[in-house]
Amino acid sequence: MKALVYHGPGNKAWEEKPKPVVLEPTDAVVRVTKTTICGTDLHIMKGDVAAVTEGRILGHEGVGVIEEVGSAVSNFKVGDSVLISCISSCGKCGNCKSGMFAHCENGGGWILGHLIDGTQAEYVRIPFADNSLYPIPAGSDEEALVMLSDILPTGYEIGVLNGEVSPGDVVAIVGGGPVGLAALLTAQFYSPAEIIMIDVDSNRLEVALSFGATQAINNAAGDAVAQVMELTGGKGVDVAIEAIGIPATFDVCQDIVKAGGNIANIGVHGKPVSLKLEELWIKNITLRTGLVSTNTTPQLLKTVESGKLNAAQLVTHHFKLDEMIEAYEVFGNAAKEKALKVILSA
Ligand SMILES: [Zn+2]
Ligand SMILES: [Zn+2]
Repeated sequence: MKALVYHGPGNKAWEEKPKPVVLEPTDAVVRVTKTTICGTDLHIMKGDVAAVTEGRILGHEGVGVIEEVGSAVSNFKVGDSVLISCISSCGKCGNCKSGMFAHCENGGGWILGHLIDGTQAEYVRIPFADNSLYPIPAGSDEEALVMLSDILPTGYEIGVLNGEVSPGDVVAIVGGGPVGLAALLTAQFYSPAEIIMIDVDSNRLEVALSFGATQAINNAAGDAVAQVMELTGGKGVDVAIEAIGIPATFDVCQDIVKAGGNIANIGVHGKPVSLKLEELWIKNITLRTGLVSTNTTPQLLKTVESGKLNAAQLVTHHFKLDEMIEAYEVFGNAAKEKALKVILSA
């Protein structure tokens, strides 16, 4: 089969690899029908994720059709259409039992396209298939469902739920990439009074306004904090969601959170940040972090199916699966290409 293979920082190839087979009784092999590229894959390509080794097939998002199942898989059979979660989980350990699939104690968690071969391929082996795949209802828009593999649950669980977005809140989202936009879409379940999107890319800010942001702040001049303070009468925001992962954007969150407010960090940080405890110690704030567990996927699936959540609007570009290198080129130049999520179809 063909797959996108990582060959060290800056080097990748769309090349021939052996088709995966069932290794454990709990495995399934899925024929990938649609997949996408994540910002995390770009981090891997830069060499930021040391655990990814030479020869690894990347990708942790997608939908497909079950090709083969192990003897212990009971929820799925050959021919079923499935949504692949970016998190694999046994469903049986203590952390899985408490819904924290991200920290599965039996070797699950974010392993696809990281510690084992991933979904940017014609076929992928999914461990713990019963708990790591979700059935796709007949007649679904499969392209929209690819957004449920990672970005929508990430924005929802780590941004909106960890931030405890509530009716009437003033919410700020720092970073209007796909995950920040996913937080913007799912924050609206809770009817906040204001959602302020902060970014330095005017196209992303326009998109955010069309997705339901009430204010868009361009931080190209570095004055976002002053603008938020002016908008909020000097109080700051109830919830500040960080969706970039650099010290400057985390600092914006620390500077705009109001007394009693919440900071929810989604961004993947590669460098230390300084915690402004000299200012925050007195402000009764809560800071939360996390890796998505995707335990909200069934809930989100229902909101997409019912049309409450328009996931398809996150897709901007379409490619064939074997145009993978070109798709990386476009997604890697997201600002210039006005790209949000790209879909690759078999
Ligand atoms: Zn991802
Ligand atoms: Zn587990």
